[in-house]
Amino acid sequence: MNQTFATLFQLIGELAVLTALVVLVVALVLLALTLASIRSGRLYFPSLLRPGLTALEGVMRALFKAVGLEDQEMLGFFVKLGNTMNAQAFAEIPVGERTIFLPQCLRNARCPADLTPEGLRCKRCGRCTVGEAIDTLEGLGYRVFIVPGSSFIKRMVKKYRPHALIGVGCLAEVKEGLEMADRLGLIGMGVVSLKEGCVETLVDWNTLYEVALLGLPPSAVPEDLHLPAEE
Ligand code: SF4
Repeated sequence: MNQTFATLFQLIGELAVLTALVVLVVALVLLALTLASIRSGRLYFPSLLRPGLTALEGVMRALFKAVGLEDQEMLGFFVKLGNTMNAQAFAEIPVGERTIFLPQCLRNARCPADLTPEGLRCKRCGRCTVGEAIDTLEGLGYRVFIVPGSSFIKRMVKKYRPHALIGVGCLAEVKEGLEMADRLGLIGMGVVSLKEGCVETLVDWNTLYEVALLGLPPSAVPEDLHLPAEE
């Protein structure tokens, strides 16, 4: 009996060492691919990188830290990877089935928007460019929300059942949003704000438009499409 247990424990030990070795080798390959992708600005083997980085996120974070990769750089890479992987599928979804979530911090600090069950309702007061951008995006056929709190997105997804979404926010928010979209079975695209913080943040509206226009035929884009001036 003792011999049986000893053999069993030895087997478990060997399996654990083998698993750790496999994880280490995979993690090193992912690290090399990530660093090469960041340096060259091109994504190498994105279909391997994405599930790998997600499955081994804890190990990869430690490895990235060990080689001096900043958290921001890593988050930016995650977002770029997600966007690249999702772009084609996103482009194939009709605009009426896409939704855009804007963070409330893009608004002017003296924003008079009303808080409603459908998020903050912009009054087009002209103090910031959010109202202008919403008009343009709604003109393209998008449903656009200004997000007042963390549980809001899930509630609107449940209510309106979009098939794709664009999330705007800081790096960490966008990364989490893309992961949430994945979990909900939606195609998510992220646009990272230019300035982080809680008040009067900035987004490059043209970057948001580039994503929003993916897959739209030229005939669906109004000739007078007016890009809001950057703040
Ligand atoms: S334009 Fe809209 S979002 Fe911007 S400050 Fe006015 S009401 Fe608020």
